[in-house]
Amino acid sequence: MRTAVCPGSFDPVTNGHLDIIERAAQIFDRLYVAVFTNSGKEPLFTLEERLAMLKTAARDLPNVIIESSDGLLLDYCRQHGANVIVKGLRAVSDYEYEFRMAMMNRKLDERVETVFLMSRVEYSYLSSSILKDVARFGGSIEGLVPPEVEVALKKRIEERVKGK
Ligand code: ADP
Repeated sequence: MRTAVCPGSFDPVTNGHLDIIERAAQIFDRLYVAVFTNSGKEPLFTLEERLAMLKTAARDLPNVIIESSDGLLLDYCRQHGANVIVKGLRAVSDYEYEFRMAMMNRKLDERVETVFLMSRVEYSYLSSSILKDVARFGGSIEGLVPPEVEVALKKRIEERVKGK
């Protein structure tokens, strides 16, 4: 059984993430999508909300399991019998950070390989943070996130503006 882990903060999940998840789910027998809580960024959505949005978005992918984790990624891989980490690569700007992460993870455990899938061109500029910025200033995010995420994002931003 080929098992891989796709880690991220998914705050919130975008169509760029989903494209990587769908493609990885075709390559591996089982794919764990691990929502990490220890990224150091202040999230817009709670962990439970991020998990729920991912579960809805990936409901038609039977070999995808959505979970949270707050430890070391490699410990998560070992606990789940995964020897591959799957990451999406958008542009050259992702490369340096991902290169360092992959090297560090290899140093920690060389049995776990990091595999990169190239982003689809139409999502190559898309990140959760840029999406939140556009939504915050009223720009259209249609086609960049699943419909339920679009609704949740607009609602959360309205709440923030009202100071809730
Ligand atoms: P973000 O950078 O959007 O905040 P995460 O920290 O949740 O995303 O990243 C999780 C993984 O998803 C990373 O490997 C990242 O490169 C990948 N990813 C994020 N957005 C895209 C996209 N638009 N296309 C391909 N991969 C992406």
